[in-house]
This record gives sequence, C-alpha cells and structure tokens, in this order.
Amino acid sequence: MIKRTIAELAMMCGGEPNAAAEAERDRTVNGVATDSRGLTEGRLFVPLTGERFDGHEYVESCFGRGAALALWSQDRPVPEQLAQRPLLIVRDTLEALQKLARAYRLELQVKVVGITGSNGKTTTKDLTAAVLAAAYRVHKTEGNLNNHIGLPLTILRMDEDAECAVLEMGMSGFGEIELLAAIALPDIAVVTNIGDAHLLQLGSREGIAKAKLEIASGLRPGGTILINGDEPLLTVGIRDAKLSEGADVQTFGLGEGHDWSAGSIAVGAKESAFTVKADGSTARLGGAFKIPVPGRHNVSNALAAVAVGALLGLTDDQIRSGLSGAKLTGMRIETVTAHNGATILNDAYNANPTAVRAAIALVAELTGFGRKWLVLADMLELGPEEEKLHYDTGAAISPDTVDRVLTFGTLARHIAEGASAGLGAERVVHFDGKAELAAYLREHVAADDLVLVKGSRGMRMEEIVQFMAR
Ligand code: ATP
Ligand code: MG
Repeated sequence: MIKRTIAELAMMCGGEPNAAAEAERDRTVNGVATDSRGLTEGRLFVPLTGERFDGHEYVESCFGRGAALALWSQDRPVPEQLAQRPLLIVRDTLEALQKLARAYRLELQVKVVGITGSNGKTTTKDLTAAVLAAAYRVHKTEGNLNNHIGLPLTILRMDEDAECAVLEMGMSGFGEIELLAAIALPDIAVVTNIGDAHLLQLGSREGIAKAKLEIASGLRPGGTILINGDEPLLTVGIRDAKLSEGADVQTFGLGEGHDWSAGSIAVGAKESAFTVKADGSTARLGGAFKIPVPGRHNVSNALAAVAVGALLGLTDDQIRSGLSGAKLTGMRIETVTAHNGATILNDAYNANPTAVRAAIALVAELTGFGRKWLVLADMLELGPEEEKLHYDTGAAISPDTVDRVLTFGTLARHIAEGASAGLGAERVVHFDGKAELAAYLREHVAADDLVLVKGSRGMRMEEIVQFMAR
C-alpha cells in the first residue's frame, strides 16, 4: 500500500495542509481508508459524501482510532475539536482521492493492465493476473472494486514494488471509463465484449461500445488496446475512438483472422482447452492452454489474458502454467454437485441477454448428461425494451439443446413465453415463487442431469443452488 509523508500526500492530492498537518509534515502515512470501520492505525482517512451519509461526520472518530491524517472539504468549516488534528483541505474529497491514485500510479514503475467490457471483466482480470503472476509481482482489483472509488483505492493498496497491476474498470454511463483510464493510465487496455448491460443508461449497443472504448484515451503513449474482434461494434467503433499517441490496436477472438485467435476449442463441465494462433510478428504459441472454468466465452476471456501475457514478455509455458492454476472470483460458473449427484452450473452472479446466451451455448455444448435444464430469472436494468429482450432470450433457446426451461420472476415470465414458442409449452414452466421452483427442481431433476442457474444479482438465484446442494 501507499506509504508517503504528509507533505508528499499534500502535493499528490493537491491539498492544503492545516497548521497541525504542517507541523507533522515529515510523518509517514500508511495506506488510505474511505470506510471508518475498516480504518487501522496510521492511515489517511478520506471522507466521502453520498446521498445518505457524510464521511466528514466520522473524521473525529477516525482520529480516535489512530488515523494519521484526514482530507477535509474546503466548503465545510473545520469544527473546533478537529482544529488540532492534521488535515489536508481539498476542493472535493473524491476528486482528491482520484488525484492521489493517479499521482501514485505515475510514481511507480508498474505496468498497468486496464480491463473493461460488458461481461467478463472480473473473469478476465483474474485470468490475466494469474498469467502475469507466473513471472511478475502482481497486484489486482479485489473482487469487483471497479468504480470511481474502488479503482483509486485499488491503486493505493498496491505495494511500491508491484511489477504489474491488473485493474477492472466498470461503468454505467458515458465519461466514467474515460475518468478511470485517466487515473490508471493503462499500458495495455482490454475490452472483453459488448453486451446489453446498462442499455438503460447508454441508449444503444453502439453507445455501450463507445463508452467502453473510452479506455483508449487513457493509454500510456505507445500502449496497446486489445479488443474483442468477434464484436463488430468494437472493430468498427475503435475507428472513432480517441486513441492516445502511438497506441496500437490488436484484436482477439474465437474466429479466424484476429491478431490473437483461439482454435481447437474443447469445452467440458469443469474446464476448457484451446490453442492460440498469433498473427503478425509473434509466431504461433505452442501447445494447448487450459483454464479451470467451462464455456467458450471464458476461452475468449482467457485469450485476452494470453495476449496480455505474451505482450508483457511471458513464455508460452509461463502463460500455460499461470492459466491452468487460475482462481476465479465466486459464482462465475461454478460447478456444484446437487444432493442427488446432478451437476449444477451456478452462474447466479449476474445476467443480461449476452451473458445468458453465452451460458446457454455452454449448456448446449456439454455432453454426457441426462436431461439439460435451464433455470432463468429476471435480467434487471435493461430499460424500456426489457420485456422484448426477455422474450427474445427465450425464443433463441434451441429445442435441440435443452430439455426443460424453468423461469422465476416478473420479467422472466417473458423468457418462458419466448421459450414456449420454440420448445413447446410442456417443456417450459414459470414460477412466481422461488420456494416452489426449488421444490420442483428437487422433485424432478435426476442424478445424471445438468442444470444451469442464472439471473441478475438482485434475484439471488444462488439460493436455489444452495437448496439443491443441501
Ligand atoms: P460486472 O459488471 O458485474 O463487474 P463482469 O464484467 O466483471 O461483471 P464477470 O463477473 O467476469 O463479468 O462475469 C459475469 C458473467 O458474465 C458470467 O457469469 C458469465 O455469465 C458472463 N460472461 C463472462 N464473460 C463473458 C463473455 N466474454 N461473453 C459473454 N458473457 C460473459
Ligand atoms: Mg466484475
């Protein structure tokens, strides 16, 4: 984590030290906290203001717990009891946190990999970090801390001697990725794919692509942006993107003809394998690569990780060993065994039409099972077209690939309608209650069946998985 003196921190975040901070200017501060509950001794406390809370109210108690320094917004008078405490007065505490992270990043020798996209950011981040860890000291985003607060905090948690940082960048509107990229200044940027998430805020899939491609504006001079070449919105959209000077654009994809193409893809219930053909200057990478997760979409994510590894000079064998040992953040397609031995694919972390289609394609591809079940819940935040998007998702389910479709939730009723059109109503059942759905599954799923469970985070479909696993 960051270790700097009070005087250095003041320079880095553009803060004005009060008299107490000036008196302690050479004191070293270790690390930054925005949550007073997680604050430990010697930290800088950054009070953020939200709709329902004001961090400034906790500054005093943070000093009580041993904080070494706090930021303070200039538009608030400093209360008397804080006058003797070291404070840096700033225009805006969030902006100062972001400035501090950017300044810290610029001081380090670290190679930064920034990862954005509609789906697959966390997975690609974890796979990329696993690859790079085969050769470098790697720092990465914990879990999903990918926004305007989480990204600066992630950077500030990095140790001085980190050689690579793999940072996830999320967004829900225009301008957000540009801001994150201007803080992280990636040497390599990755755009995993374009889906339908945040359609509500961005209006169209073209809008989503444009927002993700903002990442190109923050690339270090001479940096590389890797885009998913299977997505025309990206290969076309990149032409209009603001690219930093000397930036190189490369594509990766499952089809042929990309700078990095995956071939010989083999997908199992627990792992996937593929080969990589690199065009241009780099020769074909030798042998097969394996990842401990199923799904073609995860092969695409892994391919991005392979490309980053190769661009940062790793050997094929280092990349191979890094990938095969990758540990992924929970609920992104975990294979769980049900109480009766059936195989459950727990993909309950989140859902949108693109991700659901990717998951269905995986179910279609897996062989050696009795019946195949899809258990699908609402996909939230899709905007005015939400009912149609649910219907279309159902209608796209091919009758040859799955046996039963069960749905849960108000919107998922439309998935059931769409699915009935293709599969016939007798193979589709809609449930208004989760308990009824769970009971139905317990009764009807056989030991050799395969069950995919997926829905938006708010639908908490992991409860179904937990119930079946008991
Ligand atoms: P969030 O926006 O919530 O941070 P994320 O982009 O980090 O999501 P992951 O957590 O890696 O994405 O994956 C979430 C889900 O997205 C997975 O469970 C899977 O269903 C789907 N997914 C992952 N990668 C892809 C991909 N390349 N293409 C389509 N769907 C994908
Ligand atoms: Mg994520």
